[in-house]
Amino acid sequence: MGTPRDAGMRLVMLGAPGAGKGTQADRLAVRYGIPHVSTGDLFRANLSQGTALGQTAQRFMSQGQLVPDEVTEAMAWERLNAGDAETGYILDGFPRNVAQAQHFESKLVLAQQSLRAVVHIYVEPVVLERRLTGRRTCPGCKASYHVVFNPPALAGICDACGAELVQRDDDRPETVKKRLEVYMDETAPLVNYYSERGLLVMVDGNWPVDNVTDAILARLEGDRGHD
Ligand code: ADP
Ligand code: ADP
Ligand code: ZN
Repeated sequence: MGTPRDAGMRLVMLGAPGAGKGTQADRLAVRYGIPHVSTGDLFRANLSQGTALGQTAQRFMSQGQLVPDEVTEAMAWERLNAGDAETGYILDGFPRNVAQAQHFESKLVLAQQSLRAVVHIYVEPVVLERRLTGRRTCPGCKASYHVVFNPPALAGICDACGAELVQRDDDRPETVKKRLEVYMDETAPLVNYYSERGLLVMVDGNWPVDNVTDAILARLEGDRGHD
């Protein structure tokens, strides 16, 4: 695209809860050999290890609210600076509001790094609710399944690692409603934010998982051809 930038494959997945960010991020991470970094997974890992950070986060997560920016920003930036993320990462769930995006941008500038693209997966609101309430998650490898749309080969068991699947606490209908509201109020403005910066790649996420992956790759690798 003419602008000088570093070679890192840094991608951000943007989309409502249930849009398929985690599902697609897993696939992109395998394809590009870079880590899938999910701030939700980082908070849940802290919670299961009983850290102070995990306990703080849980108070907000269980209400479907965002965890405070400073806590989230510090945790995310630390993870993104681990050795395995040197050549890039698929960032899922961060940034989640304009303040986080601005803070993240200033960190990237200081580090002389840039984002390759922000993939916005768009899904009809009615579909999101069904996806979240039917979601089942692997506590072992964090893979995400759906009881109807994306079931494991053996009901209740992770295809990838054999662990027993669980339903997240915040995938209950009351919390889901709140999370979708928070998304509309706080996260949706990032679509414009990244569009203004020429980074946004829009993908229709209403199609089956494989079709969405193909659409993302076509856009990313097509775009790359213009460098
Ligand atoms: P989903 O996959 O449904 O989008 P996540 O696993 O990304 O959900 O996030 C679960 C919860 O973790 C959020 O509802 C929020 O409480 C907290 N969380 C995750 N990322 C952030 C963030 N960037 N800022 C604030 N809170 C966050
Ligand atoms: P997010 O990380 O955006 O919250 P997930 O990747 O966890 O979303 O997906 C939410 C739920 O929808 C999961 O149960 C997942 O298996 C399912 N899902 C993801 N992508 C699709 C798709 N394209 N079609 C149908 N179901 C999907
Ligand atoms: Zn697993």
